[in-house]
Amino acid sequence: MNNRAAYSIDPWILCETNLDLDILAESESLFALSNGHIGLRGNLDEGEPFGQPGSYLNGVYESRPLPYAEAGFGYPEDGQTVINITNAKIMRLLINDEPFDIRYGQLISHVRSLDFRTGILERDVDWISPEGQGIRVHSQRIVSFTQRSVAAIVYEVEPINSPLRVVVQSELVTNEAQVMRRRDPRVSAILESPLEAESNASSNMNVTLVHRTKASGLRVAAAMDHLAEAPSALQINTESFPDLGRVTFSAALQPGERLRIIKFAAYGWSAERSEPAMRDQVEAALAAARQTGWDGLVAEQRATLDRFWERADIEVDGDPEIQQAARFTLFHVFQAGVRAEGRAIPAKGLTGPGYDGHAFWDTEIFVLPVLTYTAPEAVAHALRWRHETLPLARERAHQLGLKGAVFPWRTISGAECSAYWPAGTAAFHVGADIASAVVRYVGATGDDSFARGIGLELLAETARLWRSLGHHDVRGRFCIDGVTGPDEYSAMADNNVYTNLMAQHNLLCAAEAAAMYPDESKRLHIDQEEMATWRDAAKSMYIPYDNVLKVHPQADDFTNHEVWDFETTSDDQYPLLLNFPYFNLYRKQVVKQADLVLAMHLCPDAFTDAEKEHNFTYYEALTVRDSSLSACTQAVIAAEVGYVELAHNYLTETALMDLDDLDHNTRDGLHLAACAGTWIALVGGLAGMRERKGTLCFAPRLPEGITRLAFTLTMLNQRIHIEVTPKETSYRLIDGEGIKVFHYDKAVKLSLNRAVTRPTLKLVPSGHPTQPRGREPRAHRRTI
Ligand code: BGC
Repeated sequence: MNNRAAYSIDPWILCETNLDLDILAESESLFALSNGHIGLRGNLDEGEPFGQPGSYLNGVYESRPLPYAEAGFGYPEDGQTVINITNAKIMRLLINDEPFDIRYGQLISHVRSLDFRTGILERDVDWISPEGQGIRVHSQRIVSFTQRSVAAIVYEVEPINSPLRVVVQSELVTNEAQVMRRRDPRVSAILESPLEAESNASSNMNVTLVHRTKASGLRVAAAMDHLAEAPSALQINTESFPDLGRVTFSAALQPGERLRIIKFAAYGWSAERSEPAMRDQVEAALAAARQTGWDGLVAEQRATLDRFWERADIEVDGDPEIQQAARFTLFHVFQAGVRAEGRAIPAKGLTGPGYDGHAFWDTEIFVLPVLTYTAPEAVAHALRWRHETLPLARERAHQLGLKGAVFPWRTISGAECSAYWPAGTAAFHVGADIASAVVRYVGATGDDSFARGIGLELLAETARLWRSLGHHDVRGRFCIDGVTGPDEYSAMADNNVYTNLMAQHNLLCAAEAAAMYPDESKRLHIDQEEMATWRDAAKSMYIPYDNVLKVHPQADDFTNHEVWDFETTSDDQYPLLLNFPYFNLYRKQVVKQADLVLAMHLCPDAFTDAEKEHNFTYYEALTVRDSSLSACTQAVIAAEVGYVELAHNYLTETALMDLDDLDHNTRDGLHLAACAGTWIALVGGLAGMRERKGTLCFAPRLPEGITRLAFTLTMLNQRIHIEVTPKETSYRLIDGEGIKVFHYDKAVKLSLNRAVTRPTLKLVPSGHPTQPRGREPRAHRRTI
């Protein structure tokens, strides 16, 4: 089903004008609200029907044993799965003696909208009960950016044509029934009743529940309080049970009269704090929310988003679908990280249970590059989390017989949770990915205290890993053998070009940072000799090249393998990972996701223009995009080598990944890397932005369907506005003292509020890259 029909196209709002129960679970992901700490799926207020109930707290998981038929040394023993915590969204409604349930009676209208400027999810329903009573429900929901533990709901009920007895039950529900698992490794291991009750208390319109996870021992507290307005007498009853808190409001309403309930909810969790401390913590958060009030929370939310959009807005003229998607995806990327503070940004954010709620390299390579130039505080938080997990990463390195730190492939707490080591532990590139995020953040912000503390230590510990994982071969080349690169249809190969280039950058930047901060280096026991070994490994880093085919093999020998038989692979056999054994994928030339092409994006100076063009064409023919992380990178390089129409198609794919449910799994949560990929495809692709030695370089090129692209980003605390049209590109410094950028290869000096305009060049495509049969990106719609 193409979801697009369900949502109207608006530049600032995602609006669903008809409720389609067949895509309820997908819509719950799209309408999810989060602040990086709390995540609430866009479930209907009354709790049912649901696609997948979901309320999450970043960092709250349950441990479970990882079973192995044949165990091996160093296999992780415990997995972690995000759990559905106490649901504070529920507002059940009874009119006369019938439950308000849109599956029965007559649904006159049902509209839900998420406004990216206010951060409010809004719902308007007109419904006639089976008994013939008409009712209007209006609700609004936010997850506060300013009060990190708080969410709030306004719920309003009004009879349409005749007097009604109305009962609203506002609830906290723990251990809700979950939807059973499908046979897809990308969904989560759903755990039944993961929370054990510790205490429940109620008074006035306030209930607090405290629970604890059984194995991981995390304490989770949830509380709610209310304000209610009704025209006549309102009866209120409050009760609490181990897994349920309920405040019941009942009123008799005439047509034109309204019952209005404001619900404040607060959440907290801790591995250390006691039950009374957690109870008090959430009650204190509620007191602060009550004091701010609904209007206050709404105003604070708006102010936070105004500031974000002033720094991050992106305008796309000519393609309204992409315009909407660009803001929708950016909104989700922002809310996933804004208050994560010392926690990970998972691959799905906090929008669903997919991938067990784990964070991967997706964060550092896709999400953080976007936030670096639009909301850099969130990047510092995310990298601080990696830094806090260093003890676990050092322990893992020690267990594997390596030096420095081995960061996990997938995790919630920082411990490795991948039970499949060829595409888990062996994907060592995650260390270099983290290092590149550190370097990018420091280069874009000049945050010196971060650079000399967290930054240096992350760079040094990852450099130590490369030095111990790689070796100088008999020819003196530094080789990194037996690792898995980004493409998960290859594993355990020698000299993966992406890994080697990223490791080279990691080693060089670590040596540079160590030389810049000698006192801090001493504290980390980095001496001149160690720095010299890093530089030496970087200098001799081996990058394989196929002299016959004139392309870079993704890794040693890759281009010698048999090419996958794409002709006989039918459309319904994709994704290949669900239909073919890995042993077969691993020995053929077939690429799940950009790998060598990603290396060309992130290490642009390691390839000549001609190499980029040849490599791109070669890998296009092999790349099946069974991962949502691929299209944006293909958009970036397609644009660079001159295929701007193809870039537009890949941009469309990454931008609509969730809005159109292209991978048929948006129900499990949004693809946050693909969301970030929309900005990457627009800014890195169509505007051609690269960062070179602390300077932003642009090489704009627009496809026919986009008549103007304009965006703002921040570099060294200075906001730059860039506007690209087919004819010219203008650069304007909005604030700051002055900065240099590059337009193609020419330096352009920017000073406050004086726009500098330069011609936009047109690239003429020289070839016709093709994709495997049936894997062409969908053409963007002609919407001008
Ligand atoms: C991709 C990985 C990615 C993971 C989580 C997989 O399908 O191949 O690169 O980290 O999804 O998004």
